[in-house]
Amino acid sequence: MDNKLITLSIKQAHEKLITKEFSARELTKEHIAHIEKTDGNIRAYVSNTFDDALAEADRVDERIRLGDVLSPLAGIPAAIKDNILIRGHRATAGSKMLETYIASYDATVIERLRKQQTVFLGKTNMDEFAMGSSTENSAFFPTKNPVDVSRVPGGSSGGSAAAVASHQAVFALGSDTGGSIRQPASFCGVVGMKPTYGAVSRHGLMAMASSLDQIGPITRSVEDAELVFQALAGKDPFDATSVTARSVPVIKGLRGARIGVPKEYFDVEGMDTGVRASVERALVEMEKAGAKLVAISLPNTKHAISVYYIIMPAEVSSNLARYDGIRYGYSTYKAGGDDVLADVYERSRSEGFGKEVQRRIMLGTYVLSAGYYDAYYKKAQQVRTKIKEDFEKAFENVDIIATPTTPTSAFRFGEKTKDPLSMYLEDIFTIPANLAGLPALSLPCGMTNGLPVGLQLVAPWFAEESIFAVGKEYEHVTRGV
Ligand code: GLN
Repeated sequence: MDNKLITLSIKQAHEKLITKEFSARELTKEHIAHIEKTDGNIRAYVSNTFDDALAEADRVDERIRLGDVLSPLAGIPAAIKDNILIRGHRATAGSKMLETYIASYDATVIERLRKQQTVFLGKTNMDEFAMGSSTENSAFFPTKNPVDVSRVPGGSSGGSAAAVASHQAVFALGSDTGGSIRQPASFCGVVGMKPTYGAVSRHGLMAMASSLDQIGPITRSVEDAELVFQALAGKDPFDATSVTARSVPVIKGLRGARIGVPKEYFDVEGMDTGVRASVERALVEMEKAGAKLVAISLPNTKHAISVYYIIMPAEVSSNLARYDGIRYGYSTYKAGGDDVLADVYERSRSEGFGKEVQRRIMLGTYVLSAGYYDAYYKKAQQVRTKIKEDFEKAFENVDIIATPTTPTSAFRFGEKTKDPLSMYLEDIFTIPANLAGLPALSLPCGMTNGLPVGLQLVAPWFAEESIFAVGKEYEHVTRGV
């Protein structure tokens, strides 16, 4: 069998499946063989669902045999972040707290992909409860960056990005609360997309910070991201914050597009000059293809990290209260032991949660406590509104905003673990889109010192189509795809 099977895009694989160049079983088996060969080193997956994958592939082959019309994602092998539930399979969220937890239902995104007969290969590694930017906060093991295995793949969806970059899956799902899809995509040289808040259902995603969380695709091309997004999007009765996409004005490509370039995103402390140069070259390419670059200002970006590290921990502290060692999750309770209820809570949570998760629960509980609520939480919400207004104002004059995805390329293991603040600064360019609820996508725009650089495209609410149009054309002019 030709190993090229694992390098195909969704559309190419789909076409070859329906013309019977190979079967869905062959496509799946080739991915499984590649995972078995490479994942001992990369460690993108925490568990596999190979038996189910082969069974689904056989069902797809049966439909091909009968001449049925296939959905675009039928028979396409995918990897799923381990905080998204697949019924009957382990879902750990990268935590000891949920090491033995088996999901009792499918997340809505899984249900939607199942309708298209996507083949699920397994669950991918992540920072514990999606808190982190390197996958080093996984309770199990770190994942390596396939481009350079001495470096982190980013996080928290590091396993998903590494799986796609190393051809262990055609696409993956991740979740993004402050950059967790876009930052690992950028570090691993693949495409990652966070939809408009509410465009995709969060039902069956383990909540981190509910006003920021969104599920989205990680792929090897913008066109693939678009196909997966279309499969995921839509209102879901199980998630009251999900909505039917509003129809908004969109652009069809680079010619005549007004691209906003915010000065605050090119000049922060710790900005890598190679990253900046790659993104500036990308802007020139877009200009050559007919776009107009417009200098803009998003003055409240400088407050984004402070605001995020108040609102996010506040939501984390309430969302994670359910893991108490009694209802479910890791428990120190022993029948006949001396522990009273409060001891069980305290010990289960102290042993079940890692350091970063505990840090955020404490921070969140503090900012929500009486006397501090007004000083911190309320003020942070007000500044969040200001950040949103910055974007509203900018989008009066531009169609898309283009920025670097991250201030640096992939860093080495251990480089930032001792200084949480330097790790938090990784997300300075991605967090504003979460705070404002805007759609944003990261796509590769060159290399610096042998490491991939990501270009971030941000559009107005529900204008995902503009991002896809610009992203696809950029890929076409620069890579000829
Ligand atoms: N890295 C950010 C954090 O640690 C974002 C995480 C995410 O998007 N889930 O909070």
